[in-house]
Amino acid sequence: MSGKKLILHALGTSGGPVDTKTQGFLFQFDNNFFMIDGGTGLSAIAELFKKQSLKESKIDNISYLYSDFSGNNEEIIAVKSSISKFTSENLSIFELNESNFSSNFKGKNVIEKSMDLYSKIQKNFVTHPHFDHISELIINLPVLYGTGYANLKKTIYGSSICNQYIQEHVLNDKTWPNLVNETASSMYSPEIKFGEIHTNQQLEVIPGIDIIRMNLNHGECQIENKTCIVQSSCYILLDKRNKHLHLIFGDCEWDEVNFPLLIGKTHDLIKNSKYKLKTMLIECSSINDEKVTELYGHMNPNMLCKTLDEFAHILDKEEKVNLCISHIKQTITLEDPRQVILHQMKDTMKKKNLNVYFELSVLINGLSYQL
Ligand SMILES: [Zn+2]
Ligand SMILES: [Zn+2]
Repeated sequence: MSGKKLILHALGTSGGPVDTKTQGFLFQFDNNFFMIDGGTGLSAIAELFKKQSLKESKIDNISYLYSDFSGNNEEIIAVKSSISKFTSENLSIFELNESNFSSNFKGKNVIEKSMDLYSKIQKNFVTHPHFDHISELIINLPVLYGTGYANLKKTIYGSSICNQYIQEHVLNDKTWPNLVNETASSMYSPEIKFGEIHTNQQLEVIPGIDIIRMNLNHGECQIENKTCIVQSSCYILLDKRNKHLHLIFGDCEWDEVNFPLLIGKTHDLIKNSKYKLKTMLIECSSINDEKVTELYGHMNPNMLCKTLDEFAHILDKEEKVNLCISHIKQTITLEDPRQVILHQMKDTMKKKNLNVYFELSVLINGLSYQL
């Protein structure tokens, strides 16, 4: 396997409400795998085995929603044109082929190969328990039972409250079977469990990669007549071999407590442990829109640029950070909101001089990137 750098398979990058590949990121380092969020899972893993030519001849599934019906303009917006529109030169697309990818998995057809890859994902970190971040993770779990595969393991990691909500409200034998089986009775029964990762806790995910979870705010909600903060997470990935640092965000808004702590932690890792911030994979759910003031705990280009401004203080201009936008919500408009957000971000970044620090891309469902 290529193996030199961390590879992100962007299985799902959408923020809904159209359920077309919501947030699920598969990471690969050498031949080891783990996931952050699970809005998308096996369905998109299967698509990784498609030949490149097949991928590129196809319209990307968000572009399809905004393709024009009205008349003679039957232009097919192929994946290739989405790549050139949404991907900065600084971010390399990792092209999967038979020799660098497919041949590494056992199986005679796509589902067998997909299952072989899936069985290697033994850790799935969840940023927060909203459906668009866990739906396919949960729906896929039954595949671990009764396949005849031996020693299947899956640990769902998250904050204690995140794990508690999934266990009590989803895997409760009411909404979905309680598939948690912490002690496998034989080598053919799977071991599915929860793992708690506290805020600021660092643990090794796979050889060469450590992870740290930091708290974030994701708006407010009412639970039993009390106003509560919706808790989300940012996962800091440390590539110890390359001394690269990647920030992978769950849904979030700027706040005056948790965000400064995250920036402080990142600064500490850059300054004292000599890591280089390579990637900020962050949400920008909504377009800037004068009519809409409520963001429901999410970012729009204005809020995101305010946040980037705070990060800029800890960065030097030597090497730009890849700013990867995900979780864009579909609007019922003629224009693709990814296009609108790209323009609005570019404008504001230029005004605030942020483009000396960040290189902007919008992630595309189903593509693989070398971070
Ligand atoms: Zn959310
Ligand atoms: Zn979300």
